[in-house]
Amino acid sequence: MSRPVVVAVEPGSAAEIAGLAPGDEVLSISGVTPTDVIAWQLLLDEADPTLEVVRDGHEIVMEIAKDAGVPLGAEVHAAIFDRVQTCDNHCEFCFIYQLPPGLRRSLYLKDDDYRLSFLYGNFTTLTRFTELDLERVLDERLSPLYVSIHSTDPVVRARMLRNPRGATSLRWLSALLDGGIEVHGQVVVCPGVNDGQVLADTLAGVLDRYPSLATLAVVPLGVSSHQREPAMRPHTAAEAAAVVDMCEQWQQHYLDVLGRRLVFAADEYYLLAGRPFPAAETYGDFPMHEDGIGMAQAFSQEFWAAAEGTSGGRGGHDGCDSGLRVDDRGSDGGIRQRAPAAGFFSWVDGAPAQGYRAVRVPGHGANRSGEIDLDGLPLSLGSTPKPVSVTLRTSPRRGPSTTSRPTDGEPANRPIGILTGTYGAAVLAPLVKRWRFEATSREGGSITSVPEARVIEVPNQFFGGNIGVTGLLAGVDVAAVLASAPPGHRYLVPDVCLSGGKFLDGMTPAELPRPVEIVPTNGSALRELLDAAAGAQSAAALPSGTSPAGSLTSRTAGVSR
Ligand code: SF4
Repeated sequence: MSRPVVVAVEPGSAAEIAGLAPGDEVLSISGVTPTDVIAWQLLLDEADPTLEVVRDGHEIVMEIAKDAGVPLGAEVHAAIFDRVQTCDNHCEFCFIYQLPPGLRRSLYLKDDDYRLSFLYGNFTTLTRFTELDLERVLDERLSPLYVSIHSTDPVVRARMLRNPRGATSLRWLSALLDGGIEVHGQVVVCPGVNDGQVLADTLAGVLDRYPSLATLAVVPLGVSSHQREPAMRPHTAAEAAAVVDMCEQWQQHYLDVLGRRLVFAADEYYLLAGRPFPAAETYGDFPMHEDGIGMAQAFSQEFWAAAEGTSGGRGGHDGCDSGLRVDDRGSDGGIRQRAPAAGFFSWVDGAPAQGYRAVRVPGHGANRSGEIDLDGLPLSLGSTPKPVSVTLRTSPRRGPSTTSRPTDGEPANRPIGILTGTYGAAVLAPLVKRWRFEATSREGGSITSVPEARVIEVPNQFFGGNIGVTGLLAGVDVAAVLASAPPGHRYLVPDVCLSGGKFLDGMTPAELPRPVEIVPTNGSALRELLDAAAGAQSAAALPSGTSPAGSLTSRTAGVSR
């Protein structure tokens, strides 16, 4: 078992005062060897922990002086210190099997680990879940978790997972729900396998057996050109429409019986079927945003709300690799568009420990209150504790854009090209077109005072097949598009394409044939960037000495939706 290795220490923190340093390997905390970052945080949440560390081959004991609930101020190299629980299923639709050769080895690892479900929102099939795991989940209130259901018919589920335990492992789902754990479910639909009547039976089975399930995401399988399963194929438009119809019918049924919609079809189904997206209110606070459910509407809300200074939209991944998110991976065959906190396959390259910190509940010990803070905590080392229990999942990103290459000194009014995947282009193009129309109207119809902004679709040749999600764009495909794009423009690349500063194929933005700006994958960031460009252009068009006050940025407040 590897042990946690310190990679950063916050200046002035308890860790620094005690002498902890990057490179230190932590053998134990107060006599206990942590197996993952969850245990790490809980142990360090107590007052005055004792650390046994190895430095340069020598063992050192450190007495840390700190109060309970105060952060230690140290980051470690990974989230799981013992072995990641790997998957023993062999699903036909598994996206891991459809990856092209030559990628980083870690990308081919099939995980089915409830800890990664809790930490990253990875889906687990529970086929390797044990009584001990259940005990820990309930004891430490590791909630929410994400479970791949696929079918409530034991025979169908076992066949889909190619694992006899698939027939029985949903008993753990019942136990988790009975224990008060919030669970989000997923069905990856494979046409001809678990659509049609099988899907209808599954939706009825959920109502019958798992009515306290928080949500159920119905997502289509992803089929890359590297897949070798003859029975697996993309949905037709008619099949996509049938899934949408069934989900909407069952939404109403759930609403009548449970008082909530529970099931949602992925955005991709609406795109495939050529149907308008449901109203934003349908999605509530967008609990399945990261699974590609309501992502288009959330992005749109963020985009238009950004001008009004309000927050738009919303508030997991598929470790089991059964679904692709429209903005993230999902190694199973479903396609969703997700705005992940750390990018595609976020956990496999070494989980950033700065995203996790246990918070002590006064009088209850660490994380024993049963409360779960889903809003996310400050992610920095110096996070201020909040009087709630542990929060381990990172919150959706919003923040300033970063730039892969400096663009200072370039004219502000350069045309803007927004690069995105096929599905992203379908969502973004109407938004940008309308933004430009409204901006031009406000500028008295002067097209020259509003910067040119266009959406550039990047076809996914790297994976091929029906893969159109932005989070699966490879550097080589982005490079191919940019190579024929005019120089001198601003090119925006959503940060969901990158993990650790690299595209999935290992390319870096600096290797692209044109300079690009890496921007957060959300509507407000894009809107703010466009408005800033328009404001700069308006200011540049004013006579010398004229105040730019009242330019587009300020006047867009009140844009109607
Ligand atoms: S789809 Fe998920 S459960 Fe199935 S084989 Fe792949 S990783 Fe395992």
